Amino acid sequence: MPKLMPGAVPSIIEAIGSTPIVRLNAVTADIESEIYVKVEYMNPAGSMKDRVGLNIIRDAEERGMLGPGGTIIEATSGNTGAGLAMVAAIRGYKCIFVMPDKMSQEKVSALRAYGAKVVICPTAVEPSDPRSYYSVAKRLVEETPGAFYANQYHNPANPEAHYVSTGPEIWDQTKGEFDVFASGMGTGGTLSGCGRYFKERKPEIQIVGVDPVGSLYYEYVKTGRMTKAFSYYVEGIGEDFLPSTMNLDILDDIVQVDDRECFMMTRELVRREGIFCGGSCGAAVMGAIKYARSLDEPKRILVLLPDNAQKYLSKIFNDDWMRSNGFLDERENEGTVAHIL
Ligand code: PMP
Repeated sequence: MPKLMPGAVPSIIEAIGSTPIVRLNAVTADIESEIYVKVEYMNPAGSMKDRVGLNIIRDAEERGMLGPGGTIIEATSGNTGAGLAMVAAIRGYKCIFVMPDKMSQEKVSALRAYGAKVVICPTAVEPSDPRSYYSVAKRLVEETPGAFYANQYHNPANPEAHYVSTGPEIWDQTKGEFDVFASGMGTGGTLSGCGRYFKERKPEIQIVGVDPVGSLYYEYVKTGRMTKAFSYYVEGIGEDFLPSTMNLDILDDIVQVDDRECFMMTRELVRREGIFCGGSCGAAVMGAIKYARSLDEPKRILVLLPDNAQKYLSKIFNDDWMRSNGFLDERENEGTVAHIL
C-alpha cells in the first residue's frame, strides 16, 4: 500500500473522536454556573456511539466472537446501530438491527443506507415479551449462522469505550477543570465509563444522570423501588429495566426531565446556540440547568451531547408533530416556513 497522503486518515474509523467542547451562552443566561457541551454529533456516523460501535467490534474480533462473513445483531435506538454499521461497512460484516417502533424514520433510513437490515418491534411491550426488541434480537442471534450479538446493555465493551476514548479525550481537552459531569442515561455506558475515568482522577467531580419521566432510573435511585416504566417520546435515554452496563454507584445525583422540556430545550440549543443537536441533548442540558439551579454556588458543568438534529427533523423540528403531541401551542412558531408559489 503506498504511503498515506499527509493530512489524510487511512479510513473513516480514524476520524472518530476529537469532538469539540463548546460553552453555552444564551440558554444559560439566567444561571450563574457555566455549562459546556461535548458535541459528540461531530463523530462520522453522527453520535458518541461511534466510539462504542468500534470498541464492541474490536473486542469481539479479539475474542474470536466475530470473524469474516459474520453478522452483527443489535437491539438499538439507532445510534449504536449507526456506529456498528459504519465499522461493519469497512470490515465487511453484515448487520441486522432491531428497533422499537418509536424511533425516528431518519434513523431507520440511515441504518438501511449503510446496508443494514432493520427489524421494527412494538415499543409498548414488556422487555420479556417475545415481541420486544430485546427478545427479537436474541431470537435472531440464535437463528442466524455466524451471528454476533453486540448486546450494548450487558457488554462491558460499551462503558469501556467511554473509559478508553471519551473520558480521556475530555480530560486532555479540559485538564480536568470542571466540577460536574452530566449526561443522559440509556445503557449507562457514557455515564459509567466517563464517570469512572473522572472519579479515578478527581474524586470530587460530581456525576449527574439525567432521566426522562417514564423511565425507571429516577425512582430507583431515589427510593430503591423498581417502578413500571411507561412510554415517552424522547429517544435514546431512560430504560424499563436495569442494564448491567449502568453503574449506579458512580452517580452522585439524578435529575428528571419531561418530554416537553427536552424538546423545547433542543429547539433552543439549535436556534439560540447554533448547536444542531438531537432530543436527548436538550434533555441533558435541561437536566444540567435544573441541577445548576439547585446549587448553592456556581459550578462548571460539562454536558455530553450524544447526537444531531438531522435524525429528528420529522419530529422535534416539525411543528405539526410537536403540536399534535401537545408539545407546542397552536400559536407558537407560526410562519417559520414561507411558500412562494
Ligand atoms: N442519547 C441518545 C440519542 C442515545 O442514542 C443514547 C444511547 N441509547 C443515549 C443518549 C444514552 O447513552 P448511553 O447508552 O451511553 O447511556
